[in-house]
Amino acid sequence: MDAVKNVIYKLPDQIANQIAAGEVVQRPASVVKELVENAVDANATIIQVKIKDAGRSLIYVEDNGDGMSFEDAKMCFERHATSKLKTAEDLFKIVTKGFRGEALASIAAIAQVEMITKRAEDDMAAKVIIEGNELKTHEYCAGNKGTQFSIKHLFYNVPARRYFLKSDSIEFKHIVEEFIRVALVHPEVEMVLEHNGEVEMHLPSGPLRQRIVKVMGSKFQDWLVPIDEETHWLKIKGFVVKPEGAKKSRGDQYFFVNNRFIKNTYLHHAIQTIFSPNIPEGYFAGYFVQLELDTSLIDVNIHPTKTEIKFQDERSVYAILHAATRRALGIHNIVPTLDFNQSGNYVTPVHSGTEIKIPSTGATGNYNPFGPTIAKRDVVQEWLQLQAEMHQSVKQADLGGQQLMNQELQGDLDIKPIQLFKKWIVFEYNDEMWMVDQAKAHQQALYESEMSKPLQVQSQALLTPHLLDLGEKFKAHWKEIAPMLTGLGFVWEIKDSVCAFTAMPILGANLNGEDWLKDVMDNWEEGYERVESAHSLWAWKKVQQESIRNGQLLTQPEMKELIQNLLRCDNPFYNPNHKKIIFKVHSQQIQQIFSL
Ligand code: ADP
Ligand code: MG
Repeated sequence: MDAVKNVIYKLPDQIANQIAAGEVVQRPASVVKELVENAVDANATIIQVKIKDAGRSLIYVEDNGDGMSFEDAKMCFERHATSKLKTAEDLFKIVTKGFRGEALASIAAIAQVEMITKRAEDDMAAKVIIEGNELKTHEYCAGNKGTQFSIKHLFYNVPARRYFLKSDSIEFKHIVEEFIRVALVHPEVEMVLEHNGEVEMHLPSGPLRQRIVKVMGSKFQDWLVPIDEETHWLKIKGFVVKPEGAKKSRGDQYFFVNNRFIKNTYLHHAIQTIFSPNIPEGYFAGYFVQLELDTSLIDVNIHPTKTEIKFQDERSVYAILHAATRRALGIHNIVPTLDFNQSGNYVTPVHSGTEIKIPSTGATGNYNPFGPTIAKRDVVQEWLQLQAEMHQSVKQADLGGQQLMNQELQGDLDIKPIQLFKKWIVFEYNDEMWMVDQAKAHQQALYESEMSKPLQVQSQALLTPHLLDLGEKFKAHWKEIAPMLTGLGFVWEIKDSVCAFTAMPILGANLNGEDWLKDVMDNWEEGYERVESAHSLWAWKKVQQESIRNGQLLTQPEMKELIQNLLRCDNPFYNPNHKKIIFKVHSQQIQQIFSL
């Protein structure tokens, strides 16, 4: 054979590493993720991250963990070099975040890396400087126990990657997200994040609840509901967020499997379906759920960034998670009867007397159908049975609900409302005291009625185009905003970053096209927290202008009508901003107050 014809040869390390880096290091946030995870794997109790220019010029990660020996300090940058895995069997017993031994080699292939590391037992620290996989320095130096990484000029030798980086604010947003994903599952580790010299987050070590509240904001203090379930092969811990904390945008969904953040739409569904009847359409349930199961029942090695994993028996995990969520909300009396609503268009107003308990078990709310004594197969069986029984009782409960709906639809709703502070309507119903926010109630009824009609937009051509410089931020996201503007009747052409509007909508008397434009942009900036579609944006605006206000005196017939219209809504309990419309207290709860 002619040797010249052989075309296959082994890639040099630098190229191989650079290719691997393409998968592992997509953006500065990936580097932060890998380094912070390594610090956690090294048993650090304090991790400090300092970023400059969203990670373009510097990513610095310092930990007080185990450190490395002088030789390991060099070795760790080799491809497939890891201390976390020795045999193929180990692959099924992974408890660390890393194991592929790829991260440092990849990072060193596409950045300038400096590292100082020291173990407790060594007198001197080791310093390594490496650039494009080429070792520049390997020497002893002074240092404290732990490891410091400085990653400079990321992608300095991969212009294409550099070019595809987004604006600093977006890249930093990704960094924050990766940082949070570790922080939310390691509350025992103190963590600090700095950007351009300013401390953006300082998370002291403490209990998980405290960590979540610190990261997510103080509102979560009231919103977190513990979830806790244990079978002999699966442990579920953490918190779900009360319905009033649900958001229109994604972002508060955190699953961790054996302390590793994962994405899983199937498991998301297990929680979301419990929440859906209690939160407005299009809202996402929030949760911070940790699943723990034997490492042999999952495969973490199916994705380079390891955010997806494979469960051996995903359906059972789903069933148990679903039941655990229901139980968590039930025990804490958050959605006592609402989640059994099956009546299509109506959310059956809550009425006591027909309160539903999980049937057949005859046990208290603490009964755990998935207790450790039940074999795995039985869990699924139990679950199916439980569901069948629940459906049965839903049907029965609906009869009671139907009565109320009929009463209300025929116009003889038997309530005697009074007005409080010209703001709230109060009445007793069955054994509950209901309090209704009058302005929100009216808005909701008007809003749903607007939404049930098609959106009719009228555009008006402009004599001279209205020019708008979108700037970097909106330019990058124009694709997301454009459909809403089209839906509202805007017509435009775009050149560079300047948008020339040639037609604008006429929607309502008090707002012109420019106001609408500003509104859509603001709305987008808020992260779609409020309303999403052109239709709902328009309806919501209209409703704001037309509804009765707080401070307006109402007669009894007016109040009754208001309540009736509200009860005809699909979502009488929450408005599109996800604010409560109805608040109710059971007479027993009031009784309790007076027995204290
Ligand atoms: P992996 O984490 O998959 O093992 P990495 O490339 O991320 O691969 O790291 C390679 C090795 O370097 C690790 O297995 C670990 O032994 C060592 N290492 C990395 N970062 C640290 C650190 N912050 N402290 C101590 N050792 C570390
Ligand atoms: Mg690693």
